[in-house]
Amino acid sequence: MLRVKKYTNKIFSSNSYLFWKNGEKNCLLVDCGDTKQLLSDIQQLDLYPVAVLLSHAHFDHIYGLNELLNVFALVRIYTTDFGYDALLSQKLNLSKYHQTPFELSNSSSVNIIEKNCNFMNVCDIDIEIMHVPGHNPSCLAYRIDNYLFSGDAFIPGVPVVTNVPKANKILALENYEILKKFSDGHILCPGHGEIKGL
Ligand SMILES: [Zn+2]
Repeated sequence: MLRVKKYTNKIFSSNSYLFWKNGEKNCLLVDCGDTKQLLSDIQQLDLYPVAVLLSHAHFDHIYGLNELLNVFALVRIYTTDFGYDALLSQKLNLSKYHQTPFELSNSSSVNIIEKNCNFMNVCDIDIEIMHVPGHNPSCLAYRIDNYLFSGDAFIPGVPVVTNVPKANKILALENYEILKKFSDGHILCPGHGEIKGL
């Protein structure tokens, strides 16, 4: 059984998620913002973070990555090729326009998920990958067991944000509808707001 913990981050109230298989030590994250509570929980639960699956590379979803890597240097970060570029560019991850400039300190921590890759297994956890660009070219959704992590590509009741650089409104609306339909019967963990369906 999958255990999931949600963290609401200070910047833009984005969500990060910590999850692991009941009884297992290895854990994964979806996105990474504030790390204080996260790192304390990881220690308390005696977990070991292996990977961060990025929903997309906007700075409010990634700004804790360097702090995480400072403690767990072997963590792998999964994103698209655009996400990789954005992790290394304040301009592309939009942190340049806010008070919290962010660039990933170690580019060799990144695993690029290619466009034709729809599945991976990390630490014995099956992960179905959906490429859902629009809000941002790096948008990925992940289905794990009956959980769907939708990032900012689908937040129920909230129109997908497309008034940001590199957004594509047509793709955003298309993928919003796909995820909306797909989320039926799943526990939905969006990039902002509450978990639905628990
Ligand atoms: Zn975003």
